[in-house]
Amino acid sequence: MPQKPDLPHPKPESRRVGYAIVGIGKLTADELIPAARTSENSYVAALVTSEEDKGEAFARAFDLSDRDVYTYDQFEELADREDVQAVYIVLPNSLHREYVERAAKMGKHVLCEKPLGMNADDARQIVAACKKARVKLMTAYRCQYTPEHWAARDAVQGGRLGKVKLLDSIHTQVETDATAWRMKQDLAGGGPLPDVGIYSVNIMRFVLGTEPEWVFAALHQPKGDPRFREVEESVAFTLGFPGGIMATGLTSYGAAKTTTLRVLGEDGSLLMDPAFPYDGLKLQLTDEAGTHQPSFPEYDQFTQEFNHFSRCILEGGTPWTPGEEGVADHVVMDALYESARTGKVVPLKSSRKKDASRGPDKPQLPGK
Ligand code: NAD
Repeated sequence: MPQKPDLPHPKPESRRVGYAIVGIGKLTADELIPAARTSENSYVAALVTSEEDKGEAFARAFDLSDRDVYTYDQFEELADREDVQAVYIVLPNSLHREYVERAAKMGKHVLCEKPLGMNADDARQIVAACKKARVKLMTAYRCQYTPEHWAARDAVQGGRLGKVKLLDSIHTQVETDATAWRMKQDLAGGGPLPDVGIYSVNIMRFVLGTEPEWVFAALHQPKGDPRFREVEESVAFTLGFPGGIMATGLTSYGAAKTTTLRVLGEDGSLLMDPAFPYDGLKLQLTDEAGTHQPSFPEYDQFTQEFNHFSRCILEGGTPWTPGEEGVADHVVMDALYESARTGKVVPLKSSRKKDASRGPDKPQLPGK
């Protein structure tokens, strides 16, 4: 249970965006509720959970009342809550679409955890539902809201590394629980690829600002290991970006926690290691002047996401990582699974427009 802060928020709730968080798992408890407390323009107004006791315990700890806790069956009662302008979906992947659609029908804006859906078609339905209901939709890609990842993108796109040639990225972790929803194809939509490998795909697309033109992948699903009865253990993949830039990725539920991103150009390189944890990101740039590690202000990635989405709601903007950005990763991941299945390179129809799937409103980075 997160600690209650000592000081009241400087802004009244009436000038911040109220969120209903759907799903009180580890991410909600350890990261999202504390992050909302430090957001300049957001707060948690309600909780939706299957475990009423747990919800009520959280409510009491955070100055919410028992009436601010809803079961999944009571979700539609949020329609009458004018103080709830947005819903944050933090549920197993297979439930994202149902809850986004139900939230959109109530006219609530939606922040949805990654991966946006189960596959590209599912994610497109999510985008369509929000468009139809005229509500904003943001995919919660926390790594596109950090000064470290933006510095990497600026180095790549500003020419500091010279002409970019190659990228590689690893995101692995060991999953031990064979019964977890992450290990069920129907609940997760895949194994490590849509769960952690998605960070590599997403950040490689983000730093380049372009989409892959073709992909190739191989995967391993060991026989006899109950964890991998339904989903793969590891995927090795290559993405071919415009201009002959090639990017390779490794993702696994069987290898020790590793998160890296490397970009190699004609005149220099960058390395992020670690590249994807909640804090402690490290960026190292090597160019003609030598190697150096820029420093960045302290910040919280989840607070950054709340700040950005709430600013879009309060000021009428479009999120930097809208639903279309979630769809774009699914298009790549669907093609990677197809390639692993067929053993063939899969071509993609890619728009040459820079940042084609991103919104016009860039995030405000901490310290700027
Ligand atoms: P979790 O296992 O902690 O569960 C989240 C909530 O869903 C809990 O309230 C749980 O009770 C409920 N739930 C679990 N299984 C259910 C089922 N079968 N039916 C109905 N409800 C169920 O999951 P999590 O790790 O919080 O992941 C939730 C989402 O957040 C996923 O989409 C995941 O990819 C994403 N996630 C994102 C990050 C990030 O860094 N952005 C980190 C972790 C998880």
